[in-house]
Amino acid sequence: MHRKLIIIGSGPAGLTAALYAGRANLSPVVFEGIQPGGQLTITTEVENYPGFPGGIMGPELMDVFRTQAIRFGATSLYKNITRVDFRARPFRLWTDGEEYTADAVIVATGASAKLLGLPSEKRYMGYGVSACATCDGFFFRGLRVVVIGGGDTAIEEATFLTKFASKVTIVHRRDELRASKIMQEKAFGNPKIAFVWDSVVDEILGKDEEGKRAVTAVILKNLKTGAVSEIAVDGVFMGIGHKPNTDLFAGQLEMDSVGYLITRGRSTATNIPGVFAAGDVADSVYRQAVSAAGTGCMAAIDAERWLAEHSRVGTSLLQNSSSS
Ligand code: NDP
Repeated sequence: MHRKLIIIGSGPAGLTAALYAGRANLSPVVFEGIQPGGQLTITTEVENYPGFPGGIMGPELMDVFRTQAIRFGATSLYKNITRVDFRARPFRLWTDGEEYTADAVIVATGASAKLLGLPSEKRYMGYGVSACATCDGFFFRGLRVVVIGGGDTAIEEATFLTKFASKVTIVHRRDELRASKIMQEKAFGNPKIAFVWDSVVDEILGKDEEGKRAVTAVILKNLKTGAVSEIAVDGVFMGIGHKPNTDLFAGQLEMDSVGYLITRGRSTATNIPGVFAAGDVADSVYRQAVSAAGTGCMAAIDAERWLAEHSRVGTSLLQNSSSS
């Protein structure tokens, strides 16, 4: 299948790009990927998206975005792009088993929660270890949990978890939170939340009885004193930030040392003419739903202008070579 424009990713950036591209008659196809709707679908209430003075649930907001994009001619496919070739023209993209081509592509693949990298964290992922309080908090009713991190994600997760857990301990590697003041105040004022400062989780302990895995404790290390301690917990939630989803584009699109895509000047253009980037995948600074939506709009306008220009002056950048 060939399309003028393919959009990879379906968070606020991808779906806003789809809305604008749809309204520009580009009939975009959106590959929704493994997390349709993006990170907002694993959050609860979004209080800072303009236009919703009473707040709106994250998944509902993304449904509204999708409905609006489809109304203007976008097609949404619940498929994951697993390989791309941006050296060919038209660009080539693959899902498992199918190939698609496009004259222009908008990359809006977002970012995913970072993990500590401990083998025990992998072992107990889904059995007490989680990176999504909204998804898994319910399972910790009346139990003790640890949240790792000191940013907005960690504090938001911790506050949310107090709805279920009997006690929430925030383990932070410094003695000062990075989270916004309003979130900090909420957490400091919450009697269910305790803090362990200057400390990291060195190990997650658990049991594995008759194939039933469960977290039982964490080993903490104080970075200032070197002291090691153990606290009994039933769950561990990661709140240590995010990693851009760019592995798919390695060797093709320029990225910084962390993996964020690099865009040109004030545009959303990447190093490959005709490929644009929007949202958290290219933003290590703001990472907000509204800023992602803003860059999604920019990417669609950039793509539309680029396509118009290259259709007018000939098609060398649209169709010619199979590789360059
Ligand atoms: P941040 O990068 O802001 O915070 C990550 C936290 O994890 C920091 O406190 C950091 O410590 C700690 N950390 C990082 N790596 C490790 C590690 N390996 N071991 C232990 N601790 C670690 O990420 P967030 O996801 O919290 O926030 C990202 C952006 O999204 C921010 O701009 C935030 O404001 C926004 N956001 C907004 C929300 C809202 O408004 N409702 C909700 C969630 C996020 P240190 O402080 O020492 O660097």
